[in-house]
Amino acid sequence: MSHTQLIKDTLNILDLNIHFEENCLTKEKYKGQICLIYKGTLLYKPEECPHCLCVVPSRIIRWGTTTVRLLLNDVSEYRTYLELKKQRFKCKSCQRTFVADTSVAEKYCFISQKVRWSVIARLKENTSMTEIARQKNISTSSVYRVMKRFYRPLNPFKQTLPKVLCFDEFKSVRHVTSAMSFIMMDGQSHALLDIVENRRLPYLERYFSRFSLATREAVQLIVIDMYAPYVSLVKKLFPNAQLIIDRFHIVQHIGRTFLNHRVKETTARLKGTSHTQRGLGKKLKRYWKLLQKEEAKLNYEKRVWRASFKDYLTESEIVDRLLSACPNLRQGYQLYQDILYAVKKRDQSLFEDCLNREVSGLPETYTTTLRTFKKFLPQIQNALHYSYSNGPLECLNNHIKVLKRNAYGFRSFYNFKLRIMIRHGKTFLTK
Ligand SMILES: [Zn+2]
Repeated sequence: MSHTQLIKDTLNILDLNIHFEENCLTKEKYKGQICLIYKGTLLYKPEECPHCLCVVPSRIIRWGTTTVRLLLNDVSEYRTYLELKKQRFKCKSCQRTFVADTSVAEKYCFISQKVRWSVIARLKENTSMTEIARQKNISTSSVYRVMKRFYRPLNPFKQTLPKVLCFDEFKSVRHVTSAMSFIMMDGQSHALLDIVENRRLPYLERYFSRFSLATREAVQLIVIDMYAPYVSLVKKLFPNAQLIIDRFHIVQHIGRTFLNHRVKETTARLKGTSHTQRGLGKKLKRYWKLLQKEEAKLNYEKRVWRASFKDYLTESEIVDRLLSACPNLRQGYQLYQDILYAVKKRDQSLFEDCLNREVSGLPETYTTTLRTFKKFLPQIQNALHYSYSNGPLECLNNHIKVLKRNAYGFRSFYNFKLRIMIRHGKTFLTK
């Protein structure tokens, strides 16, 4: 293997016009760091003048050289440069000069294409922009430039909408006016479709009206959380779509109501005068997770020593004892567990039965929650009927959070969105 070829294989250079001498590698300090510098020459016979397109070989003459230093990917953990001596030419027909061209780096760019491609590969991972910049020995703004240069988001309005859509929102960048951004996913393939800066109704209306009516009519089911503006939005813009309230949000809603009730009961007892009352308060506080847990998932076999009860008890026995000591909480617990069960088993009649229960003895919040459920009843019925939920979208939201945390936040919404789309959605690579 020739000497030039060996170096080219190491540096992964494909350009046939670059040659290396025997002592081409030096180790020297550059920008405050010991670097590997490979010195090469770029020489070939140009076929035409790029200015006047003259093709007569004798009219194009050599006209000195220019040297550039191109950043390559690290070799053995050393920052590595290619010092390329480029041939210059002069065209006698138009009296203008030009420099030999190479595939190693774009014109006027000192970051080689290989480095750029490796940045592109890293953009798909959960790494912050600064970290990529550090790894590749370039500036953060160069990383942003590479991202914007190579990735373009697909135009969502030229796409068709899927049969099932999932809507959700997440907290995006600080300067976004509504603080919450809107995110949309295909409910069947779980592909991320688009992210919209603002989740407020007028903004979304304008956004969706840019899709043609035929496209919007194709949507049959839409999964949402209990955010009322979505209901009117869908009614107005998606004539054939049925709404589904995400099951997780139903459970979360009643779960939170019960949690508040329990906290209220606990504090009342902790502030109580008698010793037993305060003891009960402490137990309620200590075993709050068992009360919040789904009843069927409680362990009813394994007895463990419970110091606060001075007895060997299973999880379900603890719950029993706590609830028999506070009858009011038991009523709330029953309602909470029944709704949980109804949603899990998709039992519509049990759910409706829960809605009509007498809750006057319970805190006001239960009435409010049940009223909300009644208001969204048709959508909840759909949720109990169809299997679609926002689970995958919540999972994606979690990924977004990690990305945001790793990056210590994003300042520009466009960059943030592009980064999410590169990782999870559809983008296209230019060139
Ligand atoms: Zn010319």
